Amino acid sequence: MTDRLTPQQRHYVMSRIHGKGTKPELLVRQWLWRHGYRYRLNVKSVPGKPDIVMRPYRTAIFVNGCFWHGHFVQLGVRSGELGVDALRHCEASFRENGKSNPNNTLIIENSNCCKIPQSNRDYWVNKIRRNQERDQRNYQILHDNGWQVIVVWECQLTPQLIEETMLRVELLLNEHFLALHQPKAVPYEYQETPAAIAAEE
Ligand SMILES: [Zn+2]
Repeated sequence: MTDRLTPQQRHYVMSRIHGKGTKPELLVRQWLWRHGYRYRLNVKSVPGKPDIVMRPYRTAIFVNGCFWHGHFVQLGVRSGELGVDALRHCEASFRENGKSNPNNTLIIENSNCCKIPQSNRDYWVNKIRRNQERDQRNYQILHDNGWQVIVVWECQLTPQLIEETMLRVELLLNEHFLALHQPKAVPYEYQETPAAIAAEE
């Protein structure tokens, strides 16, 4: 079977599909490494298989592509409700009546960094919504197991923003580390000890 795409196009398409070892994740890894942080990648035993796992910090870092993970994309209904429940409700009404309730018009908010294509729109909306739902489930499971979850977005890694973004990541890492290793606070009790008579020369 001949490939209709040039090698460059093929590479681009595959990198969008696999999403591993792509540039944003690499930028985060390189920054952490340069600043002395060590980590493991794609650890399967950790729920959600985070991109970067830092066990001493009990922190999982996800580096999300803005398109696939629907950064700032709100899927909801015009009633003002947002979120997947509202969206499901809207879809159910559409299936039953063949049309959506005028008060329940589907809203799909594009964002600057995630523009849902006009063609094949239903497919993309569903795909991105499923990704968002899966992300939320994974983050929740990790959180429930005592992990700190840090999500770094592709659009926060531009040359102008990366330093600020990563300094915030570093702060979160260290704050969480401190919280994990802080000894349990015990109120200080003053005990008067009998003054020792020190024999001084
Ligand atoms: Zn973004």
